[in-house]
Amino acid sequence: MNYPLPKSQWSVEAGDLEAYGRDWTRRFPPKASVVLFPESTTDVQAVVQWAQQNKQALVPSGGRTGLAGGAVASKGEAVVSFDRMNKILEWNPIDRWVRLQAGVVTQELQEAAVSHGLYFPVDFASRGSSQIGGNVATNAGGIHVIRYGMMRDWVLGLEVVTGTGEILKLQDNLVKNNFGLDLKHLFIGSEGCLGLITEVSLKLTHAPQDRHCILVALDDLRSAFSILESLRRTTTLHAFEFLDQACLEQVCAQHGLEKPFAEVARFLVVIDVDEKDLNRMIDLAEVWEAKKWIVSAAVAQNEKQIEEFWQYRELISESLASLKPYKNDVSVQVARVPEFLEAVDQVLTSQYPGVRSLYFGHLADGNVHINCVRGSSQSEQAFATQSSQLALDITEILNRFGGSPSAEHGIGLLKQDLMNASLQADRMKWMRGIKSIFDPQGLLNPGKSFSAL
Ligand SMILES: Cc1cc2nc3c(=O)[nH]c(=O)nc-3n(C[C@H](O)[C@H](O)[C@H](O)COP(=O)(O)OP(=O)(O)OC[C@H]3O[C@@H](n4cnc5c(N)ncnc54)[C@H](O)[C@@H]3O)c2cc1C
Repeated sequence: MNYPLPKSQWSVEAGDLEAYGRDWTRRFPPKASVVLFPESTTDVQAVVQWAQQNKQALVPSGGRTGLAGGAVASKGEAVVSFDRMNKILEWNPIDRWVRLQAGVVTQELQEAAVSHGLYFPVDFASRGSSQIGGNVATNAGGIHVIRYGMMRDWVLGLEVVTGTGEILKLQDNLVKNNFGLDLKHLFIGSEGCLGLITEVSLKLTHAPQDRHCILVALDDLRSAFSILESLRRTTTLHAFEFLDQACLEQVCAQHGLEKPFAEVARFLVVIDVDEKDLNRMIDLAEVWEAKKWIVSAAVAQNEKQIEEFWQYRELISESLASLKPYKNDVSVQVARVPEFLEAVDQVLTSQYPGVRSLYFGHLADGNVHINCVRGSSQSEQAFATQSSQLALDITEILNRFGGSPSAEHGIGLLKQDLMNASLQADRMKWMRGIKSIFDPQGLLNPGKSFSAL
């Protein structure tokens, strides 16, 4: 096969085909045909033109931390890795934006922003590997959505090579521009199905005050919402994340950590507020205790303890990885989370007695990660079948609650079955229409997300 880039920019080594052929899902066996490493937008354009001539399917690939199989190449696709397009190109401190190539690692951007006296707030535990292009393509969420919103809120401009091989420059970097449709939004969250994102302009903000962290243990999630409400009214809230007791045990066992409280409670909530709100938060915690909303509370005394508190939340995905969980990343309206989880629990207990479920997520966004793991007596195959059926059952519950089966991880390969089951499926016709404009040959991420033509 003749590849469109020089030999130093592609690999068919077995190790590379395996590593670049999969993401964090570990559910789909990798089978890439080649890994291409473009170094510029024109390289990417050459790759797409080559794909058109050879009817070769392409898989755009970022840091491969995705949790929906979007970057998986399991059918002989060519992987287009953005690892070498990792330069920060331009800072604009007055307009407060940065222009960068898509392969810049999220944490590198965060650190570079700090060194320029600025701040990029989209943040999550995979920051050390995920790339900005992948963050845009998944419209990533994370732990600060309650304060700063999702990736979409920070994208000022994009440069994209579409499936037709055209370079589309959507980088006016203007605060205001109502010149017709704002096309960049079509690519945000498109999971690599409309175009290859080559450059991104991101808004930046000023660094927040130092933060303070409180950890609370509670038994009833309804109390968590009373707590959330009291915090929202009187503090600047940065994060409000939760995990259940099963997640806590798994994190502590895997990482040799002490549990934070002697008392056992069903849920732990990790809360960050501005430093100025410390005293206010301490007063509030006394009220929560008096009202019996919480079982225990602890305020971090210093930066080291803040990090220790956050470990309980941030180490969850890594700690669960060896259990190969099936991740249901779902959302409902915030107020309905407790009722929704009760409905899920009911289905689990009555119909899936062998399956264990662990809950954690972004409580203030109504975004719960329902991680299902196989029971000790179940084979991997039996669990795979059961977890797919369970995901459909959860989707049915979501339909009743007006929720979404894909909150922040995307649809990828993992949630193909759910697309027809969701009440939101009627939107797919319009998405596929848009797909046929930007990628008429269906070369980009075929079979993923809304890609099936
Ligand atoms: C420990 C852990 C914690 C996580 N926490 C969160 C969280 O809190 N919130 C959250 O939203 N996600 C979270 N994730 C999921 C994941 O990190 C995000 O979805 C992230 O945005 C993926 O970025 P990536 O570069 O790794 O993308 P990849 O996994 O490489 O790709 C994801 C999708 O984007 C496409 N893509 C990648 N690069 C490009 C490009 N340049 N152009 C076009 N398409 C492209 C791929 O084809 C694929 O469809 C977590 C993952 C892990 C492992």
